[in-house]
Amino acid sequence: MRLFRTVITLGVLAVSAFAQESHEKHAYQSDVARLRKIVINSLYSHRDVFLRELISNANDALEKLRLTSLTEPVVLSGAEEMNITIKAVQDEEGAGRLIITDTGIGMTPEELKTNLGTLAKSGTSDFLSKAESDTTGTGNLIGAFGLGFYSSFLVADRVQVASLAAKSSKNPNPAQYVFSSGADENSFDIYADPRGNTLGRGTEITLFLKGDAIEYLNEKTITDLVNKHSSFSTAFPIYLASKRV
Ligand code: ADP
Ligand code: MG
Repeated sequence: MRLFRTVITLGVLAVSAFAQESHEKHAYQSDVARLRKIVINSLYSHRDVFLRELISNANDALEKLRLTSLTEPVVLSGAEEMNITIKAVQDEEGAGRLIITDTGIGMTPEELKTNLGTLAKSGTSDFLSKAESDTTGTGNLIGAFGLGFYSSFLVADRVQVASLAAKSSKNPNPAQYVFSSGADENSFDIYADPRGNTLGRGTEITLFLKGDAIEYLNEKTITDLVNKHSSFSTAFPIYLASKRV
Protein backbone atom coordinates (compact mmCIF):
# COMPACT_ATOMS: atom_id res chain seq x y z
CA MET A 1 0.00 0.00 0.00
CA ARG A 2 2.78 2.37 0.94
CA LEU A 3 4.59 1.54 -2.29
CA PHE A 4 1.39 2.25 -4.19
CA ARG A 5 1.07 5.65 -2.54
CA THR A 6 4.70 6.48 -3.24
CA VAL A 7 4.20 5.69 -6.90
CA ILE A 8 1.15 7.96 -7.02
CA THR A 9 3.04 10.76 -5.27
CA LEU A 10 5.93 10.43 -7.70
CA GLY A 11 3.44 10.50 -10.56
CA VAL A 12 1.90 13.71 -9.26
CA LEU A 13 5.35 15.25 -8.77
CA ALA A 14 6.27 14.33 -12.33
CA VAL A 15 3.09 15.92 -13.64
CA SER A 16 3.61 19.15 -11.72
CA ALA A 17 7.27 19.29 -12.80
CA PHE A 18 6.01 19.01 -16.36
CA ALA A 19 3.47 21.77 -15.82
CA GLN A 20 6.16 24.11 -14.53
CA GLU A 21 8.46 23.41 -17.44
CA SER A 22 7.49 26.07 -19.96
CA HIS A 23 9.12 24.65 -23.08
CA GLU A 24 10.10 21.07 -23.87
CA LYS A 25 11.80 19.78 -26.99
CA HIS A 26 11.36 16.11 -27.88
CA ALA A 27 12.91 13.98 -30.59
CA TYR A 28 10.40 12.01 -32.68
CA GLN A 29 10.40 8.26 -32.17
CA SER A 30 12.30 6.69 -35.10
CA ASP A 31 9.16 5.20 -36.73
CA VAL A 32 7.56 8.64 -36.72
CA ALA A 33 10.59 10.12 -38.46
CA ARG A 34 10.31 7.36 -41.13
CA LEU A 35 6.58 7.85 -41.60
CA ARG A 36 6.88 11.61 -41.86
CA LYS A 37 9.57 11.24 -44.49
CA ILE A 38 7.37 8.94 -46.59
CA VAL A 39 4.42 11.28 -46.22
CA ILE A 40 6.38 14.35 -47.17
CA ASN A 41 8.36 12.82 -50.03
CA SER A 42 6.12 10.37 -51.81
CA LEU A 43 2.47 11.27 -51.40
CA TYR A 44 2.47 14.64 -53.05
CA SER A 45 -0.20 13.72 -55.60
CA HIS A 46 -2.53 12.53 -52.82
CA ARG A 47 -2.14 15.53 -50.60
CA ASP A 48 -5.89 16.26 -50.49
CA VAL A 49 -6.13 13.48 -47.90
CA PHE A 50 -4.86 15.77 -45.15
CA LEU A 51 -8.28 17.38 -44.69
CA ARG A 52 -10.10 14.06 -44.49
CA GLU A 53 -7.60 12.83 -41.88
CA LEU A 54 -7.88 15.96 -39.71
CA ILE A 55 -11.68 15.98 -39.88
CA SER A 56 -11.74 12.29 -39.04
CA ASN A 57 -9.58 12.95 -35.94
CA ALA A 58 -11.86 15.83 -34.93
CA ASN A 59 -14.88 13.56 -35.34
CA ASP A 60 -13.22 10.84 -33.20
CA ALA A 61 -12.45 13.42 -30.47
CA LEU A 62 -16.08 14.61 -30.46
CA GLU A 63 -17.39 11.06 -30.36
CA LYS A 64 -15.06 10.29 -27.46
CA LEU A 65 -16.38 13.37 -25.63
CA ARG A 66 -19.98 12.35 -26.24
CA LEU A 67 -19.38 8.83 -24.93
CA THR A 68 -17.43 10.05 -21.89
CA SER A 69 -20.17 12.57 -21.07
CA LEU A 70 -22.67 9.74 -20.56
CA THR A 71 -20.87 8.75 -17.35
CA GLU A 72 -19.08 12.02 -16.59
CA PRO A 73 -21.21 15.03 -17.69
CA VAL A 74 -18.61 17.56 -16.40
CA VAL A 75 -16.54 16.94 -19.57
CA LEU A 76 -19.13 18.97 -21.50
CA SER A 77 -18.40 22.19 -19.61
CA GLY A 78 -16.37 24.87 -21.36
CA ALA A 79 -17.92 24.80 -24.82
CA GLU A 80 -21.57 24.60 -25.80
CA GLU A 81 -21.82 22.88 -29.12
CA MET A 82 -19.99 19.80 -30.38
CA ASN A 83 -18.69 20.90 -33.75
CA ILE A 84 -15.83 21.29 -36.18
CA THR A 85 -14.78 24.67 -37.61
CA ILE A 86 -12.50 25.34 -40.56
CA LYS A 87 -11.07 28.81 -41.01
CA ALA A 88 -8.84 30.09 -43.81
CA VAL A 89 -6.60 33.07 -43.13
CA GLN A 90 -4.41 34.86 -45.66
CA ASP A 91 -1.72 37.24 -44.39
CA GLU A 92 -0.80 40.45 -46.18
CA GLU A 93 2.43 38.85 -47.45
CA GLY A 94 0.34 36.13 -49.12
CA ALA A 95 1.20 33.36 -46.64
CA GLY A 96 -1.78 31.24 -45.62
CA ARG A 97 -3.03 29.41 -42.57
CA LEU A 98 -5.77 26.83 -42.35
CA ILE A 99 -7.18 26.39 -38.86
CA ILE A 100 -9.25 23.33 -37.98
CA THR A 101 -10.88 23.44 -34.56
CA ASP A 102 -13.03 20.91 -32.73
CA THR A 103 -14.79 21.05 -29.38
CA GLY A 104 -13.96 17.41 -28.66
CA ILE A 105 -12.22 15.69 -25.76
CA GLY A 106 -8.90 17.56 -26.26
CA MET A 107 -5.45 16.45 -25.16
CA THR A 108 -3.34 17.03 -22.05
CA PRO A 109 0.33 17.95 -22.65
CA GLU A 110 1.28 14.31 -21.99
CA GLU A 111 -1.29 13.18 -24.57
CA LEU A 112 0.00 15.71 -27.12
CA LYS A 113 3.44 14.19 -26.68
CA THR A 114 2.36 10.54 -26.82
CA ASN A 115 -0.39 10.79 -29.42
CA LEU A 116 1.40 13.06 -31.86
CA GLY A 117 5.04 12.15 -31.16
CA THR A 118 4.88 8.35 -31.19
CA LEU A 119 3.19 5.71 -33.31
CA ALA A 120 1.11 3.38 -31.22
CA LYS A 121 -0.41 1.44 -34.10
CA SER A 122 0.37 -2.19 -34.57
CA GLY A 123 1.60 -3.00 -38.03
CA THR A 124 3.29 0.34 -38.42
CA SER A 125 6.77 -1.06 -39.04
CA ASP A 126 5.30 -3.42 -41.61
CA PHE A 127 3.62 -0.57 -43.41
CA LEU A 128 6.79 1.48 -43.31
CA SER A 129 8.95 -1.23 -44.92
CA LYS A 130 6.31 -1.78 -47.63
CA ALA A 131 5.97 1.93 -48.30
CA GLU A 132 9.72 2.47 -48.36
CA SER A 133 10.26 -0.28 -50.92
CA ASP A 134 7.23 0.62 -53.04
CA THR A 135 8.42 2.29 -56.21
CA THR A 136 4.98 2.45 -57.85
CA GLY A 137 3.77 5.19 -55.50
CA THR A 138 2.15 4.62 -52.15
CA GLY A 139 -1.32 5.79 -53.10
CA ASN A 140 -3.13 2.51 -52.48
CA LEU A 141 -1.32 1.96 -49.20
CA ILE A 142 -2.80 5.19 -47.89
CA GLY A 143 -6.32 3.86 -48.26
CA ALA A 144 -5.43 0.66 -46.42
CA PHE A 145 -3.60 2.35 -43.60
CA GLY A 146 -4.71 5.95 -43.22
CA LEU A 147 -1.88 8.36 -42.70
CA GLY A 148 -3.50 10.28 -39.96
CA PHE A 149 -2.13 13.42 -38.41
CA TYR A 150 1.20 13.40 -40.27
CA SER A 151 -0.59 14.00 -43.57
CA SER A 152 -0.74 17.64 -42.36
CA PHE A 153 2.86 17.95 -43.52
CA LEU A 154 1.78 17.30 -47.12
CA VAL A 155 0.48 20.86 -47.26
CA ALA A 156 2.11 22.59 -44.29
CA ASP A 157 5.67 23.72 -43.48
CA ARG A 158 4.72 23.96 -39.83
CA VAL A 159 1.88 22.55 -37.78
CA GLN A 160 0.77 23.87 -34.42
CA VAL A 161 -1.71 21.95 -32.32
CA ALA A 162 -3.22 23.83 -29.38
CA SER A 163 -5.34 21.65 -27.14
CA LEU A 164 -7.37 22.03 -23.97
CA ALA A 165 -8.42 18.72 -22.45
CA ALA A 166 -12.01 18.42 -21.27
CA LYS A 167 -12.54 18.94 -17.53
CA SER A 168 -12.87 15.72 -15.58
CA SER A 169 -12.75 14.57 -11.97
CA LYS A 170 -9.14 13.50 -12.54
CA ASN A 171 -8.26 16.74 -14.33
CA PRO A 172 -10.48 19.50 -12.89
CA ASN A 173 -8.33 22.45 -14.07
CA PRO A 174 -6.83 21.61 -17.45
CA ALA A 175 -4.44 24.06 -19.13
CA GLN A 176 -4.04 24.67 -22.85
CA TYR A 177 -0.79 23.38 -24.36
CA VAL A 178 0.75 23.56 -27.82
CA PHE A 179 2.51 20.93 -29.92
CA SER A 180 4.57 22.56 -32.67
CA SER A 181 6.68 20.98 -35.39
CA GLY A 182 8.19 21.98 -38.71
CA ALA A 183 8.11 19.65 -41.72
CA ASP A 184 11.93 19.49 -41.83
CA GLU A 185 12.49 19.03 -38.13
CA ASN A 186 13.25 15.78 -36.34
CA SER A 187 11.81 17.07 -33.13
CA PHE A 188 8.71 18.76 -31.82
CA ASP A 189 8.09 21.30 -29.08
CA ILE A 190 5.50 21.20 -26.33
CA TYR A 191 4.76 24.34 -24.32
CA ALA A 192 2.03 26.03 -22.32
CA ASP A 193 0.00 28.14 -24.73
CA PRO A 194 1.15 31.76 -24.22
CA ARG A 195 -2.42 32.85 -25.11
CA GLY A 196 -3.81 30.94 -22.12
CA ASN A 197 -6.99 28.83 -22.34
CA THR A 198 -8.47 30.38 -25.49
CA LEU A 199 -10.40 27.25 -26.44
CA GLY A 200 -13.44 26.43 -24.35
CA ARG A 201 -12.41 22.79 -24.81
CA GLY A 202 -10.90 20.73 -27.60
CA THR A 203 -8.23 21.09 -30.24
CA GLU A 204 -7.17 23.73 -32.72
CA ILE A 205 -4.83 22.68 -35.53
CA THR A 206 -3.07 25.47 -37.40
CA LEU A 207 -1.47 24.53 -40.71
CA PHE A 208 1.05 27.08 -41.97
CA LEU A 209 0.51 26.29 -45.63
CA LYS A 210 3.38 25.73 -48.02
CA GLY A 211 3.67 28.32 -50.77
CA ASP A 212 2.27 25.85 -53.33
CA ALA A 213 -0.69 24.84 -51.14
CA ILE A 214 -2.40 28.22 -50.98
CA GLU A 215 -5.30 26.73 -53.00
CA TYR A 216 -6.56 25.22 -49.73
CA LEU A 217 -7.57 28.69 -48.56
CA ASN A 218 -10.23 28.73 -51.24
CA GLU A 219 -13.73 28.23 -49.79
CA LYS A 220 -14.94 26.23 -52.76
CA THR A 221 -11.91 23.92 -52.68
CA ILE A 222 -12.50 23.23 -48.99
CA THR A 223 -16.26 22.77 -49.38
CA ASP A 224 -15.77 20.34 -52.28
CA LEU A 225 -13.22 18.30 -50.31
CA VAL A 226 -15.46 18.13 -47.25
CA ASN A 227 -18.43 17.08 -49.35
CA LYS A 228 -16.41 14.49 -51.22
CA HIS A 229 -14.61 12.82 -48.31
CA SER A 230 -16.10 13.78 -44.98
CA SER A 231 -19.73 14.83 -44.98
CA PHE A 232 -21.17 11.30 -44.74
CA SER A 233 -18.65 9.97 -42.24
CA THR A 234 -18.90 12.91 -39.84
CA ALA A 235 -21.61 12.92 -37.20
CA PHE A 236 -21.08 16.52 -36.04
CA PRO A 237 -21.69 19.83 -37.85
CA ILE A 238 -18.79 21.25 -39.86
CA TYR A 239 -18.62 25.04 -40.28
CA LEU A 240 -16.48 26.86 -42.79
CA ALA A 241 -15.78 30.24 -41.24
CA SER A 242 -19.34 30.85 -40.05
CA LYS A 243 -21.26 28.93 -42.74
CA ARG A 244 -22.30 25.33 -42.30
CA VAL A 245 -20.80 23.06 -44.98
P1 ADP B 1 -5.45 7.58 -35.57
O1 ADP B 1 -6.55 8.58 -35.76
O2 ADP B 1 -5.57 6.45 -36.55
O3 ADP B 1 -5.30 7.10 -34.15
P2 ADP B 1 -3.80 9.83 -36.17
O4 ADP B 1 -2.36 9.98 -36.61
O5 ADP B 1 -4.80 10.40 -37.09
O6 ADP B 1 -4.05 8.29 -35.93
O7 ADP B 1 -3.95 10.50 -34.75
C1 ADP B 1 -3.12 10.08 -33.69
C2 ADP B 1 -3.77 10.31 -32.34
O8 ADP B 1 -3.70 11.70 -31.99
C3 ADP B 1 -5.25 9.96 -32.26
O9 ADP B 1 -5.43 8.58 -31.99
C4 ADP B 1 -5.70 10.83 -31.07
O10 ADP B 1 -5.38 10.20 -29.85
C5 ADP B 1 -4.83 12.06 -31.21
N1 ADP B 1 -5.53 13.15 -31.91
C6 ADP B 1 -5.33 13.58 -33.17
N2 ADP B 1 -6.16 14.59 -33.49
C7 ADP B 1 -6.91 14.84 -32.38
C8 ADP B 1 -7.96 15.77 -32.05
N3 ADP B 1 -8.42 16.65 -32.94
N4 ADP B 1 -8.47 15.72 -30.79
C9 ADP B 1 -8.03 14.83 -29.88
N5 ADP B 1 -7.05 13.92 -30.13
C10 ADP B 1 -6.50 13.92 -31.36
MG1 MG C 1 -6.80 9.66 -37.50
